[in-house]
Amino acid sequence: MAAEFAPAPLRVDTTRLSSGDRQALVRLIEAGRVVDDIFLDQLWSGNRALEERLAADRSPLGKTRQELFQLYKGPWSDLDNHRAFLPGVPERKPPGANFYPEDMTRQEFENWASDAAKGFFTVIRRQPASRALEVVPYSRAYRSDLERAAKLLREAAALTDNLSLKRFLETRAAAFLDDDYYASDVAWMDLDAPIDITIGPYETYNDELFGYKASFEAYIGLKDEVETAKLDNFTRHLQDVENNLPIDAAYRNPKLAASMPIRVINEILSSGDGNHGVQTAAFNLPNDERVILKKGSKKVMLKNVQHAKFDSTLTPISRVVLPAAAQPNFSFDWFFTHILAHEISHGIGPHETVVGKKTSVRLALKDLYSSIEEAKADSTGLFMLQLFFDKGILEGGEANERKLYDTFLASSFRTLRFGIHEAHGRGMAVQFNFLADHGAFVERPDGTFEVNYAKVKGAVRDLTHLLLTIEAQGDYAAARNLLDRLGVLRPSMTAALEKLKDIPVDIRPIFVTADELTSNRQ
Ligand code: ZN
Repeated sequence: MAAEFAPAPLRVDTTRLSSGDRQALVRLIEAGRVVDDIFLDQLWSGNRALEERLAADRSPLGKTRQELFQLYKGPWSDLDNHRAFLPGVPERKPPGANFYPEDMTRQEFENWASDAAKGFFTVIRRQPASRALEVVPYSRAYRSDLERAAKLLREAAALTDNLSLKRFLETRAAAFLDDDYYASDVAWMDLDAPIDITIGPYETYNDELFGYKASFEAYIGLKDEVETAKLDNFTRHLQDVENNLPIDAAYRNPKLAASMPIRVINEILSSGDGNHGVQTAAFNLPNDERVILKKGSKKVMLKNVQHAKFDSTLTPISRVVLPAAAQPNFSFDWFFTHILAHEISHGIGPHETVVGKKTSVRLALKDLYSSIEEAKADSTGLFMLQLFFDKGILEGGEANERKLYDTFLASSFRTLRFGIHEAHGRGMAVQFNFLADHGAFVERPDGTFEVNYAKVKGAVRDLTHLLLTIEAQGDYAAARNLLDRLGVLRPSMTAALEKLKDIPVDIRPIFVTADELTSNRQ
């Protein structure tokens, strides 16, 4: 189990921060660690006692158990259907985690529940005497931890010289104590600072009973200036890309709306639900519809986490699926640049159907939408980068083009590895098979795959045309046909995937910079 997650030391250069920011950062890392304590409580009532018991075992097995406990934030594996991997604990994670009394049934809750009981930021407990259910707000349930975290955020707010960060930290500290997260979610949308932080209760996946209760998580990092500049450059030319999309001119949007803001950061610490099982490489927040209506949402990409995953999982995959001659072309820079292009490609192309009754592409393509849209973002991303090469917006040349396409080919196996029952995997199978059928991806006799550079540009163009046209026409039948025909694993792909079995699934970050910064303060 431990071998499924390759240890990945995360180091981030903090020397360019102002002295106020450097001191603020230490407080924020400490606040992030408080979030770990809260999340352990949220996931299971027995977690803190178990953590102490594990810490007492100094044997090698004990140490590994402790590491896995810290990774899964409890004794159950998310990769194994929440089954227990430690002795002496319930066989499976309670579906309601520690958000509800473990002996409460769905029916009991539904007969009793008010709106407050269904809120994001409350837990349900039993009154000691009557055993009746009661609603306890987070600010009361986790009072001492939240007071500690709020104090650290306020200290950091006083130390930083960045106004948007100051504003977020002050409003979020207030929210920890009164459970009203609206103003601080709005401040988070406006946050643009050398130190980037997301901290609070957000996702509701751990509440498998109802999906009401938000888990605490934190991501703390520094803004990546190089990638931010690259993104700004892409965004400046986005209308130009739209105007050149390989579709009927009537399907193009003459005036793009402002796109979703994207921040690229290097992670110093993630904690709580943000450092739970398979590691987050990018996230989209907030979830509150009221904030989304007013301010939209924001995407944060964790570049060094992507890099660590690339080194630990993708590089070994590339050695299996690419021929030796193509190995030197395998490149993190082009992997990450394509991810950026993928993300901004979600913002271009048709979002409303053009043929017949006007509706959103999402509604028209229903259950098939995610697979088609993810494939479209990959393919349009490749098309966009080729256009940037051709127009001199990006430094192209044969060498960089080869890096882009070879890296894309190898990385497609990382996505396929997670199976075709999920939108990204299914969309990737469509692309892989389309490109193979058009002679752009070629299987070699030794079971590796290579790119035909003469054919790949035209094939990507045709694929982009196909996907965008299905979206513009809201053509459910065509989407169905495409996914049935190409959203499959063919024998050559299955054979390659078979050879990837022993490669780690993900990483287990070790927060070297965070540990160094906080040990100096004590
Ligand atoms: Zn996407």
